Amino acid sequence: MDRVSLVAAAEWAWLGLNDDNWISIGSGGVALGGAVAAAIYARGSKRAAERSADEAAAISKIERDRQRDEREQLHRQLHPTDQTKIEARLNGTSGRRSLFGTITVNREYRADAVAMLDEKTTTPIANLPLLLRPNEEYGFHIEHWPEGRKAPQTQRLRFKFWPPIAELDDVDWTCPCGRPLAREETQEHRAHWEVILPIYFKQAPKVRGF
Ligand SMILES: [Zn+2]
Repeated sequence: MDRVSLVAAAEWAWLGLNDDNWISIGSGGVALGGAVAAAIYARGSKRAAERSADEAAAISKIERDRQRDEREQLHRQLHPTDQTKIEARLNGTSGRRSLFGTITVNREYRADAVAMLDEKTTTPIANLPLLLRPNEEYGFHIEHWPEGRKAPQTQRLRFKFWPPIAELDDVDWTCPCGRPLAREETQEHRAHWEVILPIYFKQAPKVRGF
């Protein structure tokens, strides 16, 4: 009888029952048993139960941490930068030139990109679809070059990446880290991955005739 009530109390302790509640259940058990030995057993069991509850809590925390570390490690492995090619080039003839870029990824990503003119000013990059498919080169427009421009105004490109959304994008992977997914209406969400690429511009040397 005592034992049953103590076991039940021990189970409750797992659920975070506070110490006062525990004592009232424990002493109730002693009263039912009516023996000193039962009281000693109850105290010993209480300590043992507390210890095992502490141990269980510690173990489940370790397990939670391990699973989180595993998810974070996968998250890092799914980072797009290693396999992603991003290039920029100047197209067009004098007065009608534009700075264009291309991006190729190795798996599906939802992406968003802006041109950074300085630390505070950004302009959206045009022509980039929300979902990038693997091994396809996507072109995008960075900035127009009016007559006389000698160097890009854009200093950096910032790309944000999210994993695709299985049911919308017809894909078989996602990132398990728990960060939010990107839907059209939630593009402001913190991205899973972000990369900022400085633009170095080098004028092609003029070919001199002899
Ligand atoms: Zn992630």
